[in-house]
Amino acid sequence: MKELFTLYLTNNQHQNFDLKAVIFDMDGVLYDSMPAHDISWRKTMDEFKLEYIPNEFYLQEGMLAKRTIDKIFQRNVGRDATTEEEKKIYARKSELFQQHNTDGAMPGARETLEYVRGEGLTTVLVTGSAQPSLLNKLDSHFPGAFKPETMVTAFDVKHGKPHPEPFLMGLQKGGNLKPNQAIVIENAPLGVEAAVKAGIFTIAVNTGPLSDSVLTDAGAAVVFRSMTALREAMPEILNLARTARA
Ligand code: CA
Repeated sequence: MKELFTLYLTNNQHQNFDLKAVIFDMDGVLYDSMPAHDISWRKTMDEFKLEYIPNEFYLQEGMLAKRTIDKIFQRNVGRDATTEEEKKIYARKSELFQQHNTDGAMPGARETLEYVRGEGLTTVLVTGSAQPSLLNKLDSHFPGAFKPETMVTAFDVKHGKPHPEPFLMGLQKGGNLKPNQAIVIENAPLGVEAAVKAGIFTIAVNTGPLSDSVLTDAGAAVVFRSMTALREAMPEILNLARTARA
């Protein structure tokens, strides 16, 4: 794995890492919520008689809801959704998501956050989600890990993933950090793309149905099969980040 760290430093013209924070995506990383998102989107689109492609909601995971809806409208009816259509669709999807979501934390997520914090690093959240009372929910599952000052949500950004904006804001919220002062943990190709565009070393955790190559093609330095596997590798990852030189 060492060469992946060296390669990142060389490609991004850094001498070394100066690790201060680990930035976590939420759905599919901290929560096992993607199956509920996926079925809620599919049921909603079926109800509105809009067709979608296989794995569409995994491939577009992380995108702001408006863009996901517009993409499907463009393909089905050749135009963006109106604000009213978008509101109706998103309201229905959110309603279904509440029914399907079990609020289950991803196995290994809590342990990973605790380990990272125990190593003296800041934990930052970057999510495209617009769920209300996100902070209360996060704090009950992952006590003390995130504060409003260290969270970027759909309410904070204009563009959303795959644009680098959410992760650039994550660096800011992590303490005005430079890209080589953080590592990103993502599960979705567009999230990986956004983090890589922000210049950050990006680790993927493949917790969904897509193949690993979709994540490496998006720019992930390395792909783990689960958060539990990531937790096990975390000491090595932090050690490499602390010792790697270009
Ligand atoms: Ca995600």
